[in-house]
Amino acid sequence: MYLTYFVAPLRCRNCGTVSAADETTLMESSLRHRDESALIRVGDYVDPQLLERRYLTIRAPESGEPIRLLEMWTCPTCGFVNWGEVVLRDGLVERIESVTLDAARLQDFHYVTLSAGDELEARYGPPASDDGVLRPEGVERLLLVLPPPAVSG
Ligand SMILES: [Zn+2]
Repeated sequence: MYLTYFVAPLRCRNCGTVSAADETTLMESSLRHRDESALIRVGDYVDPQLLERRYLTIRAPESGEPIRLLEMWTCPTCGFVNWGEVVLRDGLVERIESVTLDAARLQDFHYVTLSAGDELEARYGPPASDDGVLRPEGVERLLLVLPPPAVSG
């Protein structure tokens, strides 16, 4: 599989270091063809059609709605595994951020990258997916085991 990387300066939730905007953060997916750049930055185009095949679906986006991707990245400084959020609007990357994940926030996402799906499974048990779509009971169960929203950021 041809790995691609969402790249942006990302602040680690563990050590507070802001990363370089490069592939050392390992925010990996597979959203390009081999003749295209492996690095995807804010402002770049991503074919939304690829998401259904290469990500797990949490819920299908409405037409015209910005598409939110749950990602995972590793801090190059301390090795902590962080969650990330990528927002696509009309196929263009609008935002690449480090986020915390809680039950309320999970419901904001449309797709989860496969490595983040594996991480969810490792932390919280099998996410119950069918043909790449998280079954409703899988999402319901994740909502029960994810931490509640933090009182402060
Ligand atoms: Zn760190």
